[in-house]
Amino acid sequence: TLPKIYAITPTYSRPAQKAELTRLSHLFMLVPNLHWIIVEDANSTTALVRNVLLRAGLTDRFTQLNIKTPPEFKLQGKDPNWIKPRGVEQRNLALNWLRSHADVDRHAIVFFMDDDNSYALELFVEMSKIKPGRVGIWPVGLVGGLMVERPLLNEENKVIGFNAAWRPERPFPIDMAAFAISMDLFFKYPQAAFSYEVQRGYQESEILRYLTTSDQLQPLANNCRDVLVWHTRTEKTKLNAEEMLQRQGKRSDE
Ligand code: UDP
Ligand code: MN
Repeated sequence: TLPKIYAITPTYSRPAQKAELTRLSHLFMLVPNLHWIIVEDANSTTALVRNVLLRAGLTDRFTQLNIKTPPEFKLQGKDPNWIKPRGVEQRNLALNWLRSHADVDRHAIVFFMDDDNSYALELFVEMSKIKPGRVGIWPVGLVGGLMVERPLLNEENKVIGFNAAWRPERPFPIDMAAFAISMDLFFKYPQAAFSYEVQRGYQESEILRYLTTSDQLQPLANNCRDVLVWHTRTEKTKLNAEEMLQRQGKRSDE
């Protein structure tokens, strides 16, 4: 049988949220071994998110959590490169939930799945192949200023580098969507977590430094030749007419 895949998704309220989550929920309908840990960046869980999950029939295949990102999160003025990191609090809460609720003795996979990327069904077939104690890796499309950011392999199909153009000096110059992790590593390394105290683009390196080394990465997706996930970004919704309506006490979505 396939290992369970715990997909961890931070999400926050904005006009396109329901559209993004509906898109993802339909993918979940096609992948029976997925369990969705959806963590709202909010003071409470919302009916909007719960209804999307229920309408997709995910009844007992999701866990809905919430934790609000502290509004004034800032580091005491050091590096001007510090920016507000996204999803840190939410992903850490999900990891805590996993460590206290998941079955330690059952092989499972953990994937950090942002709500706006585009995922091929085959990606989940690929990550099901991750071996206990390993981190699986694959290319990501449309990220880091490239068509494809990918690991570089040697003749024995071991990862020996990365093609990253943006901040290639990072220990793991890859996107959050480029890897998934055998769950046992989170029990083996209980201190593994995301942190606010890292520079932009270093969240991936931050979590992975606890869990693996580059040469231990398990290449998937046809030895990192296939692109099965894209770092798409949804443009900010323009609501100028809606704002005019609301000034008259009306709205289009009543
Ligand atoms: N996110 C969040 N709170 C925020 C901003 C983002 O929970 O204030 C979530 C978002 O829904 C997504 C993830 O964090 O699942 C990454 O955010 P985003 O896609 O905006 O980051 P980018 O693609 O720019 O790296
Ligand atoms: Mn994104």
